[in-house]
Amino acid sequence: MKLALFGGTFDPVHRGHLAIAQAAADKFGLHQVYFVPADLPPHKLTRQLTGFHHRFAMLALATADDQRFVPSLLDSSTGQPNYSIHTVRRLKDKLKKSDQLYFLIGIDAFMEISTWYHPVELLAECDFIVVSRPGHSLGDVGEALPEALRPAPAVLQALRKQQATGAIALPSTTIHLLSGVNERVSSTQIRAAAGKSVKQLSRFVPEMVAEYIRKEHLYINKPAQGEKEGVESHKVLSFRGATHRSKTHG
Ligand code: ATP
Ligand code: MG
Repeated sequence: MKLALFGGTFDPVHRGHLAIAQAAADKFGLHQVYFVPADLPPHKLTRQLTGFHHRFAMLALATADDQRFVPSLLDSSTGQPNYSIHTVRRLKDKLKKSDQLYFLIGIDAFMEISTWYHPVELLAECDFIVVSRPGHSLGDVGEALPEALRPAPAVLQALRKQQATGAIALPSTTIHLLSGVNERVSSTQIRAAAGKSVKQLSRFVPEMVAEYIRKEHLYINKPAQGEKEGVESHKVLSFRGATHRSKTHG
């Protein structure tokens, strides 16, 4: 069986997330895509997140229509920041030897991968599917790699002239590029627009998720909390005992 792990904060899940999961499942023949919301995303500990149960409920609603999509509790309440390498290994423990696992990620998140926890080991765990956006080259993908895996400068130079499509084969992993998904939406944008009607919100999230946001009064009056640099950041720094900004992501 072919499957993908798709991690994120999903605060909330939106049409961009669903579009990249659909495109990846279609192109790579994935039988399952595990949507794994992080309870404690290491790179977002300084922002007050919506409760895990709400984020998971929205994911369950959003993924109900596609039988390949699985809302997953792999990263729920471990009490520790959810490092992707641990999540991948936890999922692999449940898989058969013959299963083929991919790590699905957007290029904006991939650009940070060398700051993640044990990135070289993470990249060696499975192949990656990186969803590219217009304007990105293969060189960007190569440059984002941790130093130990980064292609030589001359190779990077050549990659810079190539659009981010195809694949980069490294000794320890293959990075497949997926292009053609251009949903210009982010969770940040939705949190800022949450006061709007269900109809307006439904442009960005499935209608049932829009209904849920309204019903539970999510994101109302607090979209900017901790999202503008320096805005009362001392308040959000105390989130769940996290008293400092984590330097290690992912
Ligand atoms: P936020 O605005 O809070 O950062 P987000 O919209 O980026 O939220 P995340 O939960 O942080 O959503 O992202 C999960 C994954 O989905 C990441 O790999 C990210 O790169 C990818 N992603 C998010 N939005 C898009 C999009 N519109 N197109 C392609 N990939 C996306
Ligand atoms: Mg993001």
